[in-house]
Amino acid sequence: MNYISTRNPGVRVSSSEAIAKGISSEGGLFVPESIPQVTPEEIKALSECGYIERAKRILGRYLTDFTAEELDSCVKGAYETGFSDSKIAPVVKLGEGVHILELFKGPTCAFKDMALQILPRLLTVASGKVAKGIETVILVATSGDTGKAALEGFKDVENTRILVFYPSDGVSPMQKLQMCTQEGANVAVSAIRGNFDDAQNGVKRIFTDKAIAERLKANGKAFSSANSINWGRLAPQIVYYFSAYCELVASGEIACGDKINFVVPTGNFGNILAAYYAKEMGLPVAKLICASNSNSVLTEFLTTGVYNRNRQFYTTISPSMDILISSNLERLLYSIAGSEKVNEWMSLLASEGKYTVDGETLDKIREIFAAGWCDDEATKATIAKKFKENDYLCDTHTGVAVTVYDRYRAETGDTAPTVIASTASPFKFSAAVLEAIDGKQTGLDEFEMVEKLAAVSGLECPAPLAGLRDKPVRFGGCCEKSEMDKVVFDMLNI
Ligand SMILES: *Cc1c(COP(=O)(O)O)cnc(C)c1O
Repeated sequence: MNYISTRNPGVRVSSSEAIAKGISSEGGLFVPESIPQVTPEEIKALSECGYIERAKRILGRYLTDFTAEELDSCVKGAYETGFSDSKIAPVVKLGEGVHILELFKGPTCAFKDMALQILPRLLTVASGKVAKGIETVILVATSGDTGKAALEGFKDVENTRILVFYPSDGVSPMQKLQMCTQEGANVAVSAIRGNFDDAQNGVKRIFTDKAIAERLKANGKAFSSANSINWGRLAPQIVYYFSAYCELVASGEIACGDKINFVVPTGNFGNILAAYYAKEMGLPVAKLICASNSNSVLTEFLTTGVYNRNRQFYTTISPSMDILISSNLERLLYSIAGSEKVNEWMSLLASEGKYTVDGETLDKIREIFAAGWCDDEATKATIAKKFKENDYLCDTHTGVAVTVYDRYRAETGDTAPTVIASTASPFKFSAAVLEAIDGKQTGLDEFEMVEKLAAVSGLECPAPLAGLRDKPVRFGGCCEKSEMDKVVFDMLNI
């Protein structure tokens, strides 16, 4: 199985190269040159396995230059011990024919763990095949969840270092605490004075600075990236869509072969794209329902074919979906319309901030996807309603997905069995969740809110979040934009 670039099908690399490089040199994203097919018999067999076996079989179809031993060790290393639920990605029944796929049982309590627990392991194997003896340096700019999940994933992984920059005024108190108390000998974290764009631009500049690259090379090191356009992050996400389906088969909720819907709270289009690949592989999927918050750029695109990022940016209570450029959409466009059109649309996006796809492409998209969005008030109302009526507490991102699904079902009358992806623990966004179910709180600090949420909901706060209170702060530093190079060199001792 080879990988080609969405912008130049002449570029062809192995899965190891695709993962080690992250992005193709002309700016395209790596995609598999064909989609491996999974038969109904195989799906039936998978429904009798656990998550680890499912992951090995699905990933094995994509990462064909990894040996069975290498895959076994990557998958077990990622999922055997770090998750608080033995199912890894359990499926919980919300109502008749409606199920929640809980993707937040990993060490940072957000769905990014599903991919970032395994990516470092895949990257280590891949880099070993591509360039022997080089230490990989991961640089991350984060607005919250990705930074912490990457730190947990890469901590103490051999031959890697990880350095995370976050904006001094742009992450939630819980997210900041999670990062500043990070353990591990190969990790470092620094705030930078500024917003997320400042952090992101600084990291991009360091990545592409030739002199810095030379200095790293002279010291046996090279940069790599853990962001969501890396194929090594996307492939592991395909697994849990198969797993969710298998769980429903195993529990008798559906028969093998029945079609189901997936609803996904979406930001960068990575999570829902993985569901698309699962469908293309042969998983019986009816509709993929893309849920957005007030930053509804994808709802407009998937329903009208117009992608327009020239719009107001909203800061919402589901911050991990506050995105106006969904990078992974490029892979869908490639799959449906090919590289010539992708080039045309991506250059329009860069120059005008806007493009419109042709009618044929739009028809294909609408056949597969439904889409909707909701604002913060509707999200909070849904969190309150589901807590009261279904005794289920969801986080703010999941709240968006549930709202969009309820509206979709009411409007279309589609009652096919449905799985809604839940992407974070409600305790990670305590302030908004508590406001939804118990009214606005005043004068409580982050941990008091967590405690109150536990008391009001009757749920236990996940250990990794509760334990933060007693952890020493290891990384309290804050640098200026101009000092980021020095922070990198200091961390690497070069
Ligand atoms: C990253 C994230 C999302 C969005 O996922 P995409 O793959 O970017 O679409 C949704 N919810 C949470 C909690 C996240 O951390």
